[in-house]
Amino acid sequence: MKEAFDVAIVGAGPAGTSAACILAGAGVKTILFERGEYPGAKNMSGGVLYGQELARVLPDFAERKLPIERNIIESRLWYLSKEGGYNLGYRDAIFATERKHNVFTVGRARFDRWYAEQARQKGVLVVPGTVVVDLLRDGSGRVTGVVTGRAEGEVTAQVTLLADGVNSPLAALTGFRREVKPEHVALAVKEVIDLPAEVVDQRFGVSGGNGVTTEVLGDIVGGMNGVGVLYTNSASISLCIGANLADFATFKLKPYELIEEFKQHPMVAPLIAGGKSLEYVAHWLPEGGYDTIPRLYGDGYLIAGDSAMLFNAPHREGSNLAMASGRMAAETVIEALERGDCSRKSLADYGERMAQSFVLQDMKKYRGFGPFLHHHKEIFNELPRAATFAGREMITVNGVSKREKQKLIFRNARKETSLLKYLKLLWSGWRAVK
Ligand SMILES: Cc1cc2nc3c(=O)[nH]c(=O)nc-3n(C[C@H](O)[C@H](O)[C@H](O)COP(=O)(O)OP(=O)(O)OC[C@H]3O[C@@H](n4cnc5c(N)ncnc54)[C@H](O)[C@@H]3O)c2cc1C
Repeated sequence: MKEAFDVAIVGAGPAGTSAACILAGAGVKTILFERGEYPGAKNMSGGVLYGQELARVLPDFAERKLPIERNIIESRLWYLSKEGGYNLGYRDAIFATERKHNVFTVGRARFDRWYAEQARQKGVLVVPGTVVVDLLRDGSGRVTGVVTGRAEGEVTAQVTLLADGVNSPLAALTGFRREVKPEHVALAVKEVIDLPAEVVDQRFGVSGGNGVTTEVLGDIVGGMNGVGVLYTNSASISLCIGANLADFATFKLKPYELIEEFKQHPMVAPLIAGGKSLEYVAHWLPEGGYDTIPRLYGDGYLIAGDSAMLFNAPHREGSNLAMASGRMAAETVIEALERGDCSRKSLADYGERMAQSFVLQDMKKYRGFGPFLHHHKEIFNELPRAATFAGREMITVNGVSKREKQKLIFRNARKETSLLKYLKLLWSGWRAVK
C-alpha cells in the first residue's frame, strides 16, 4: 500500500530542507527524499551561506550548533591577467559584531547533513539513499506523489516540491522545465586545500574565526565566460573555477586545466603554498538567468532553488535564493492545505510571493548579465591585458613622465581593442546591471 503524506520533497539541499523545516514547524506531514547516502553527500558550492535567510527558517540557528567554517568580514574582488592583477576589497568590523553571520562559509557535506537533521527533529521523515525516478499523476495529469527507485517505492502526497538541483532530470523528464541548454549552465570545479588555521589567519590577516571571500574575474578562464573564487574555511581554503558549459565545448578546454593554472597564479599560489588537496569536485550551476526560470507551480507541484534555475551570478547568491524559494513554497503549501485546495490556481500564490520578493526582483534586474558576459569576451582577455599594462606602467618608476605614461596606456588600450568596443562594453555593462 502506498504511504500518504501531505508533502513530498525531492532533494535535501538548501531549498528542499528549508521547505521541510517550515512545513514540519506548521505540523504538515512531510517526507524529504535525498539520493545521496546522506544529505550533502553529493553537494557542492563555493561554500558561502547567508544568515538572514537561514534565520527566517531557523531563527536560533547559532544555538543549534550550525557547523560554520568562518564568519566573513571582508569581500575582495580581483581582476587578473596571467601575470598579476588588481585587488579591490571591503572589510568592516560591523560584520564581526552587529552583522555577524551576514555571510559565512560552510562545508556543504556537513551543513546539509546538519540542516536535514534540524528538519528531522522538527518531525520530517528524511529518507536518504533514495532516488525519486518519476512522479505519480492522476487521470487529469495532477501530480499526486513520487515514484522512488526502491521496491514498492511509491509515496502519495497532496503536494510535491521539486528541489532536486540544477540537473533536475525529473523536472526535465516530466516536462515542467525546458531541457537545460549548455549556454544556460556553468561547469565549475572546486578544490579544498588543507592548511592550519593559524596559517589561514596569517595569510588573510584575520583572527577569531573570521574570514575573507575573494571573487576573481579576468584572464583566468582561457578567454571563456567564467569566474573563480577563493574562500577561507576554518583550516582550509576553497578554490573554485568555472565557465559556461557551451564555452568549454567551443574552446576545447578542461576544467582541471583551469584549476591547475589558477593555483599557480602569482596572486593565488602564495595563499595556498604548502597546503594539501583535501577534496576535488565538479558541479553545474544555473546561469541562464531570469529568462530560463520555468513556470514555478502547477497542479499538485512546485519547483524551488536551482531546479527553478535561480542563481544571482553577479552576487554569487544561489543558496539563499534556494532557501527563500523553499520557504515561500512551504508557506504557500501550508495555506493551500488549509484551504483544502492544492490545484494550480491555489498554488499560484507561490508565483506571487516570489515575484514580490528579492528573489525574482534580483533575477529580473540582472536578466541581461549572462548575455552581456557571453557577448563581451574581451572582459576575459583583451581588457585584463590592457589593465595589466596600465598597472605596470603606473607603478614602474623609470623617469618617464606620468603624462607620457598616460598616453602609452591609452595607445596600448586602443591596440587591444577599439574605442567603439570600449564604449559598447560600458553601455551594455551598465544596461545589464542597472
Ligand atoms: C562551484 C559552485 C560554487 C557555488 N558557490 C556558491 C556560493 O558560494 N554561495 C551560494 O549561495 N551559492 C553558491 N553556489 C550555488 C549553490 O550551491 C546552489 O544555488 C544551491 O546549492 C541550490 O540549492 P538547491 O537546494 O536548489 O539544490 P542542491 O543544493 O543542488 O540540492 C539538490 C539536492 O537534490 C538531490 N537530488 C537530486 N535529484 C534527486 C532525485 N531524483 N531524488 C532524490 N534526491 C535528488 C541532490 O542530491 C541534492 O542533495 C555554487 C554552486 C557551484 C556549483
